[in-house]
Amino acid sequence: MKFTIQNALIPTDSAYAFVDVQIVDGKIAAIAPSLNVIGTAIDGTDQLLLPGFINAHTHSSEMWQRGAIPPLPLELWLAELYDFANLDLEKIYLSALGTAVETLLSGGTSVVDHLVLIPGLEFETIATATRAYREVGIRAFIAPLIQDESLAAGIPSGESQQSHEPYFRSTQATLDIIEEVVKQFHRPDEGVSILVAPTGIQLCSDALFTGCIELSDRYNLCRHSHLLETKAQEKLAQEKYGCSAVEHLKRIGYLSDRTTLAHCVWLSDADIAILAETKSTVVHNPLSNLRLGSGIAPILKYRQAGVNVTFGCDGASSNDSQDLLEAIKIGSILHNITDLDYQHWITPRQAVTMASLGGAKGLNLADQLGTLSIGKQADLVLYDLTNLSLLPRTDPIGLLVLGRPSNVVNSVWVNGKQIVANGKVTTINVDDLRKEIFNHSQWHSQRQSRTVAQLAAHYRAVMGLPE
Ligand SMILES: [Zn+2]
Repeated sequence: MKFTIQNALIPTDSAYAFVDVQIVDGKIAAIAPSLNVIGTAIDGTDQLLLPGFINAHTHSSEMWQRGAIPPLPLELWLAELYDFANLDLEKIYLSALGTAVETLLSGGTSVVDHLVLIPGLEFETIATATRAYREVGIRAFIAPLIQDESLAAGIPSGESQQSHEPYFRSTQATLDIIEEVVKQFHRPDEGVSILVAPTGIQLCSDALFTGCIELSDRYNLCRHSHLLETKAQEKLAQEKYGCSAVEHLKRIGYLSDRTTLAHCVWLSDADIAILAETKSTVVHNPLSNLRLGSGIAPILKYRQAGVNVTFGCDGASSNDSQDLLEAIKIGSILHNITDLDYQHWITPRQAVTMASLGGAKGLNLADQLGTLSIGKQADLVLYDLTNLSLLPRTDPIGLLVLGRPSNVVNSVWVNGKQIVANGKVTTINVDDLRKEIFNHSQWHSQRQSRTVAQLAAHYRAVMGLPE
């Protein structure tokens, strides 16, 4: 399989250049002006060519509740989310397709799906999401979301003595499921990778983390987790461990150069130094952090400390979208209000590098993805620079990151296979997908979450809020 993209605009160190790009067997074979056409010729005139971005943290099945959950902090928001989850395999399939499509059409070629598992159908859930991602052709990193403590354990006890119901499945049974999933579905060469992904310190025992570390070492898997998303989790870590969550995760060996950590809002300077030392990656989910009132992650401090940072949309019911370009924009400019020194602010070009190479580094694939370089995988996106939202002709990357680009993705290739052409996904019928999602859902505005009602008083007391 060979093709040549002709006359596309690419960023150079400080400017732009018009080049041709030859792709052979899924890899970038040459980048230079006026190359011979090999294979099919693709006209890149008036289009910006960038490496695909990585949607480095999401939960696909949350698509079913986007727009539905009222303004609540994470701990109560989660309670409502789980009260109304009502997932089945058909919904898992459709929301994985939807997540893939929205990621592709906002510049992403890879998705890290911290996938919520249907109890009793864990294996089938993963098989179904895998099938959806393979059908679309997006590069998929499936991180089955596991825990071994019940939801109420995620809220600090404070002064009160809280006892929690045990989780319905044993830690070892969960680890056994993940090992079997790895054997059956972990196929990095085919664009599907499995990650170990305990949800976070708030709902996971050390035994679960340690079991995941063993699987990660045995099968060469990347590691994923939420980390210190909320103030409540910072308190909980002190209650549980008597030290910060980051210190604890370092002690048990979870942090590494192939560990990506979603959120990282409530870290101290000492914690930041640990992330730098262990070469861990922070996945910044700015829209989710704003939506749930979690706080502003200290992204400029991470960058100054040399911590790798990339972007995620987070699940679609805490966002409530899967627009990667929106996450990149907000995730860049949000931090300008945290530091008067504008020399630390994130430039549009830095944002693009964080979203592409930053994501690749976190997945231990910096040698294969994330830049326009000869020998790397052809995970590429062409943006239409004649689209009204990218006009007038000023700085294309400035427009893409700081503007409000709408329908600007013209073509996408993953592993050299074209899966978006003329702004449309070519591998699945998106009109059919829209109808299916429409038919599998209902308009509603008023619903009452029983679990939120049960947890709210305790949450308010622990967090020092008036009764
Ligand atoms: Zn998340």
